Amino acid sequence: MNNLHKSSRRLNPEFQARVTGETLRQWIIHFATSIREEEQLLTDLDSAIGDGDHGVNMCRGMNAVVEKLDALALADLSGQMRVISTTLMSSVGGASGPLYGAFFLQSSHATQHKPDLGLADLTSAMEAGYRGVVQLGKAAVGDKTMVDTLAAAVNSLRASCNHHEGLTDAVKACRKAAQLAAQGTIPMIAKKGRASYLGERSAGTQDPGATSASLLFESLAHAVLSASSPLHTNVPNPLLL
Ligand code: ADP
Ligand code: MG
Repeated sequence: MNNLHKSSRRLNPEFQARVTGETLRQWIIHFATSIREEEQLLTDLDSAIGDGDHGVNMCRGMNAVVEKLDALALADLSGQMRVISTTLMSSVGGASGPLYGAFFLQSSHATQHKPDLGLADLTSAMEAGYRGVVQLGKAAVGDKTMVDTLAAAVNSLRASCNHHEGLTDAVKACRKAAQLAAQGTIPMIAKKGRASYLGERSAGTQDPGATSASLLFESLAHAVLSASSPLHTNVPNPLLL
């Protein structure tokens, strides 16, 4: 790459985009909104292959997180993720609370002392979160759980990193990979969680946790793309209005 190309890369906002504490809050607000909008879908999926509480569980957890968001603005990225984690762990009764809690706890550890995140930092944080979920739930890829979506999302981010892509392209690819992975759980037979009690009868339904995890990365993409748009303004927390 010649020097001119290098410097035009540096001037291109695509290559300067970073995930700040504000981006994290917008990510969480968008995720909470999506969870509310898709509560019925998550309930229906979990009714088909679980106990029907995934929509309610996720709504309760994300509502509790949103209530703390304005106070969270005072904390750094890592501190915000830690509060998101502990709030989910304490407010969600089902398996998904501790699992999402583990995701944000390990992401919090991985982002300590970082004021904001470039693609490499974001990828490391999401990988740490993924490992936290696997360590706690012991599910592998193909077991028809949220791990399928998380694995696809972090693999996509890592590939974007290795190809020196910009953050905005990376989160777009990650969103697509997560969505496809969630859809990919439809034919699977569940090996972990309540759906595994159904054995072969669990095939034919998209996993609820894989579905909510896909919304998580859709919201990440939305927050990063909004923040890097030239028209970007901070959006107030609509869930508290
Ligand atoms: P519960 O199963 O306790 O009712 P939820 O309905 O809130 O909890 O969440 C169910 C989702 O949790 C599943 O769809 C699956 O994606 C995820 N899950 C369950 N057990 C595990 C596990 N051991 N590892 C990873 N994810 C899991
Ligand atoms: Mg359930």
